Amino acid sequence: MAAAAVRVAAAIDRPLTELEAFARQVAGCTKCRLAEGRTQVVFGIGDPEADLMFVGEAPGFHEDKQGYPFVGQAGKLLDKLLAGIGLERSNVYIANVLKCRPPGNRDPAPDEIQACEGHLFRQIELIRPKVVATLGNFATKLLSGKPTGITRVHGTEQEVNLGGSCVVLYPLYHPAAALYTPAMLQVLEQDFARLPELLGREVAPPTPLLTPVAPEPAQAQAVQLGLF
Ligand code: URA
Repeated sequence: MAAAAVRVAAAIDRPLTELEAFARQVAGCTKCRLAEGRTQVVFGIGDPEADLMFVGEAPGFHEDKQGYPFVGQAGKLLDKLLAGIGLERSNVYIANVLKCRPPGNRDPAPDEIQACEGHLFRQIELIRPKVVATLGNFATKLLSGKPTGITRVHGTEQEVNLGGSCVVLYPLYHPAAALYTPAMLQVLEQDFARLPELLGREVAPPTPLLTPVAPEPAQAQAVQLGLF
């Protein structure tokens, strides 16, 4: 959102929202070493008043170049998972624990997380989502405040106080991890399917996998004959 929304505000000559003003401020952040190697800060994208917010790990190569989170392969999977529950990117808000790309896409370092966490907490405070879905270990451990790993806590919601209000924290496997592991993808899909319920929305009836097809008359006769 950062750059794009700020441009929109300027183009239509309206004052910046608090979130946009904050994004502009974070765009110049030099709190940690990642500022030196980044192309730009990847602040976040989506509905600034979303009920559902996703928090991933850190921008990768494409995110750093384009300025938006989850625009690579993992992002494509996230879009598909969202479509599976009747949502699209514009209905939710997507951000990361780190706003700048770690070199070579290495794991975030503890001091980088510490330097950046204030940005995420302020984002949550301004967006005030009902549900925060954490994608992978780093976001889950940071926002739950507990060391328990994603393998044990995925799909289990917990109430936590974030950004001054009570939210449902819902840990999920990271889409990048599920990309090449079918078993993990299946679990991620199952966990995703509970999001509408956690949002207090009506859950759509499951789509039957096989729709019964009326047999052709000749076929029907054969089936009938086969019964006796
Ligand atoms: N992985 C993340 O955690 N965040 C992104 O923005 C992209 C990939």
